[in-house]
Parts: sequence; C-alpha cells; structure tokens
Amino acid sequence: MIYADNAATTQIDDDALNLMIELQKTFFANPSSSYKLSRPIKKILNESREKIAACINAEPQEIFFTSGGTESNNWAIKSFAEKNIITSAIEHKSVINSCLYAQNYLHCTATFLPVDNFGTVNPDYLQENILPQTKIISVMFANNEVGTIQPIKKLAEVAQSHGKIFHTDAVQAVCHIPIDVKDLGVDMLSASAHKFNAPKGIGFLYVSKNLNLIPFHDGGGQEFSKRAGTENFPAIAAMALALEKNCANMKSYSEKVSTCAKILIERLKENNIDFILNGGENRLPGHLSLSFKNFDGETILHRLDLKNIYVSTGSACNAGQIKISHVLKAMNIPVDYVKGTIRVTFGRNNTIDDAEKIADAITKILNK
Ligand code: PLP
Repeated sequence: MIYADNAATTQIDDDALNLMIELQKTFFANPSSSYKLSRPIKKILNESREKIAACINAEPQEIFFTSGGTESNNWAIKSFAEKNIITSAIEHKSVINSCLYAQNYLHCTATFLPVDNFGTVNPDYLQENILPQTKIISVMFANNEVGTIQPIKKLAEVAQSHGKIFHTDAVQAVCHIPIDVKDLGVDMLSASAHKFNAPKGIGFLYVSKNLNLIPFHDGGGQEFSKRAGTENFPAIAAMALALEKNCANMKSYSEKVSTCAKILIERLKENNIDFILNGGENRLPGHLSLSFKNFDGETILHRLDLKNIYVSTGSACNAGQIKISHVLKAMNIPVDYVKGTIRVTFGRNNTIDDAEKIADAITKILNK
C-alpha cells in the first residue's frame, strides 16, 4: 500500500512507540504521588517538557500538555475571547468553531479575514481590520488543505504593534518548518503529536510566560494548575522523543518529501494531465493540493483506494452531495476544477517510487 495522507495523520515512530509501551508497563504509578515510585515519572515529565521547549526556543514553563491540536486551539482562543477576535477564513474547524462559540455564547464578535488565491493572509489587511476592542488574533502557520505557509512573523508584528495577543495553529507546521517562538513573536502556538510521528490524543500549547492563561480543566494542580487531570506521561514522553528526532532530521525529511512532490507533479505533466496545483510557491514541502478539471475528488479518492493508495479530498462528500471546502471556496479555485481536488501529503516514509506510482494511478483513473 502507499500511504500519502500525512497531513491527516502519520505513522508512529518505532522508538516513540517502544518508549511509550515501556513506560506504560514499567511506570504505572501516578505522577503526582509523593512516594519514590513516582519520582522517575516526574523526572520524565520534566525532561519531556524541557525537550519540547528547546525544539521551539520556549521555556519549559511555557509548555502545557493537551490532548492535541483541537484542545490547544480551543484553549488558546476561548481563554482570550473578549469583545473581538480576528482569524482567517481558511482556519481548521477547531479554530473557526471556537470563534463561532465565542460569538454565540461569549458576546464576542469574530472577524474572518479573506485570503488571496494562494490562501495567504495579507498583513496589511490584518492591520486595517484590527479594532480597538480586538483582544486576540489567530492565524494558522500552515494550512492543512493546501499547505500554504502564512507570513507569521509579519502578522505577529502587526498584532504586537497594536498590543494584541497573537496565536498560531502550527499543527501542520511543527517539524516541517523551523519554529522559534521568540523570533516569530507569537504569544501562543498549538501543536499536535500525531502529525509528527508521535501518538494520537496528545499535543501541546505554547503560552508566553507574559500571558495569564485561564485554566481549561478544573481539578488537581497538574500543568501549573491550568489543566487538571492525571498526565498521559507515556504519550508525552513519546511526543517529546518524536519531536526531537524529527526536528533534528527536518532538513533531510524536507528534501525527501519535496522531491516526492516534485516528481509527482512532473510525472502528471509528462502524462498531459490538466490540473491546478493550489497554494502557490510558499507551501509545506511535501504537500500537494491538486484540482483536476471536470472530475470529482471523491471518485479519484475511491479509485485510488481500490489500488491501495491513500490520499484525501479537498472537498467533503456529504450524502452524495459534493460540498466545496471553506478553504478552496475562500481561495476562489475555478469552478470547473474545484470539485476535482485531492490532497497528497508525503511523509518521511514515502519514496520516489510512491510518487511515480501515485501519478500513474491518477493518470489511469482520469484517462478512463
Ligand atoms: N489544526 C490543524 C491545522 C489541523 O490540521 C488539525 C488536524 O487535522 C488540527 C488542528 C486538530 O488537531 P488534532 O487532530 O490533534 O485535534
């Protein structure tokens, strides 16, 4: 089989999996207990927090463990949902729906910034839309459908110059793009472990020590009394290991996946296939959103599935009705192409052979 849906999730790293199993078996005590059985667990938790912080140039006390990207985004946004929130039209649903929640239940207005045809948010446009009452601005680092990378440093600068809090959903960016939270000037950043070869159901939220985050879960004193509940420390340790490993190998993985992406595109062109590559030049390295003229993405996906090739679509199929995704809509992809969108996202386990096989399989499907 060929798995090329790494933006949806990734295969767990062997070392991370082995570590998680080992810790789950050996260190079963509660990390919060005061007897000696718990001491190594506390040490592992602290070391994991330090490792994660070092990967993004944060301080350990600025890292809060969560259950993943969705929780991190909800926490960041709802903590500061007052009066007005600014976000973009192409965010992940966990950001969009958190903003709509704030609008419906917290007496807050939400401004959704448009994007250009490549899916980029213009910092000048952000500047023009900041209101005196705006509290928080949330713009994703890299888009999950088309891979567009936002000018995060510039957007954060605009937010900072107006004294506003800046959050970025970096779920698709972590381990693909070097991240230095201090250099970028972001106040909060969300990450999800299963996107970088670590287990599912675990992630983290970076929060600058200058911000006073509202507790998300009330209960015990875990996570600096901000997120109560016994820590999933085997998964936390596995996340720290996978993050460290993937960040250390970022350059070579990035070259590998971008070569796969380039080969797939070249092969489609050689095969005379009519398609649009969405998202412009500034995209995640192994990320391809392809729109094929007068076709539907769902059909391509199912036919690839029959060949044991796994990709995803750019439009969700709902009870037989093709619903164009909010991202592709916001980017104004031409109507005769938009329904025929698929997303191919390469990961560190893919090969050039995979890329060629996917291109040839798509060609066969379209020519039939
Ligand atoms: N944000 C983005 C950009 C994503 O791509 C995803 C998952 O696809 C999430 C947030 C949600 O992350 P999780 O699956 O860890 O809840």
